[in-house]
Amino acid sequence: MATVVSEKSRQAKIIAYEVLLEQGMQLGTPPPSSGSPQRQRGVPKVVAREVWDRDGWECRHCGSHRDLTVDHVVPVSKGGADEMSNYQTLCRPCNSRKGARV
Ligand SMILES: [Zn+2]
Repeated sequence: MATVVSEKSRQAKIIAYEVLLEQGMQLGTPPPSSGSPQRQRGVPKVVAREVWDRDGWECRHCGSHRDLTVDHVVPVSKGGADEMSNYQTLCRPCNSRKGARV
């Protein structure tokens, strides 16, 4: 009856292996709501500096030099591109005013 025992233990090993695989996959899968940072709203700092440089470090609406942000001329949600030609310098108040309206 040696064959029966070895067959059983072989199956047990396979099952144990499958359980390990399953656990491994669960451990390896990051929870969906954490870990991966959300896509940053706005543009990277480096790009922002380029935009502000190009626009003379002033808000295109009111000319303010304070609290500058980079705004998408055409919102990405409306097909605007993530490139310099679609960026403009806005101060935070103007930007949030625009954002509230759209
Ligand atoms: Zn402004």
